[in-house]
Amino acid sequence: MKRPLILFLVLTLTSLACYTTTAPPLSGSETAPPSTVDPNITPVSVVSTVVVQTSPPNPPAATLLYISGTTHIESKPQTWPNVDTFLAFLQQVTALGMKWSVGADIGWLEGEPRAAELIQASEALGVQWDVHTHSPQDRAKAAYLITQMGGHPNSVVSGMLVSEFSSIGPQIYQGFTWTPQVLWGGTNCPGHRPGCDDLAAGLWIPLNAEQYATHDPNGTLVRVGGGTHQLDDGRALAQSIANGQYTYPVISFTVMVAPSTLQVVGPGVQIVESGDGIAEIATFVSEMNGYGFVRWATIEETAQAWVEAGSVPSRIEME
Ligand SMILES: [Zn+2]
Repeated sequence: MKRPLILFLVLTLTSLACYTTTAPPLSGSETAPPSTVDPNITPVSVVSTVVVQTSPPNPPAATLLYISGTTHIESKPQTWPNVDTFLAFLQQVTALGMKWSVGADIGWLEGEPRAAELIQASEALGVQWDVHTHSPQDRAKAAYLITQMGGHPNSVVSGMLVSEFSSIGPQIYQGFTWTPQVLWGGTNCPGHRPGCDDLAAGLWIPLNAEQYATHDPNGTLVRVGGGTHQLDDGRALAQSIANGQYTYPVISFTVMVAPSTLQVVGPGVQIVESGDGIAEIATFVSEMNGYGFVRWATIEETAQAWVEAGSVPSRIEME
């Protein structure tokens, strides 16, 4: 503490002396009487001049691209994953260094006989369990069911209608309180239909349902934008960052894979299948690792990193 303070005083006095002998009055409207210290010069303005002259310019903050992976399991059994196949997939993507999360709706949590096995085995791989329910009232119940099967549900609302934003808050089920802190997968119309999803990448805190894209520095629910989920769009985003297009500290992007096909899906989860499977994902990971600014993190970890980096809004439209 001492050395900077002394340096500060020396610089201040030096520049004050400098200004009294060489600098013209800052205001030219009045005739300045001869005096040792010009009354128009405040220490504040002098100090800021010294800082600009003696400090090296701050380099722009480096942008980090946080890439997450996720899978939603719906209530309808037709789209449920084969537990063994899905576990093998999770083993492969986590071995590549990706961080994955799963959001499973109530029907699967209550109806899949091997749900507890998948939850526990996937958590052992570092996979996180987000909360994904199509009925907003079911979120605490889904979180509760995950805990009952030995899992540890996190604070991510993985999928929501933008219109329900103001009603999102802590819920209690069977005495179990679940508190949401992170939002992912906002959509403007239900049912995973094309054109409904908010396809922005990046993070911010939505102001309200009407001005969802506006950052609210006083809000609490961190929105993690997953973008279009497509590998090529992730590549383009990384290239934009490499080109210096953004100055945000943290940008997010999420690769999403369908539970039944284990292929990368785009917006409109059950409609657009890309054909990209584990081989294409492995190539993508390898390419992304070529960029020094790419980080692999879950959706919740991405939100935490964004907060720790100063909560600078970084919403990027990808449509
Ligand atoms: Zn869904």
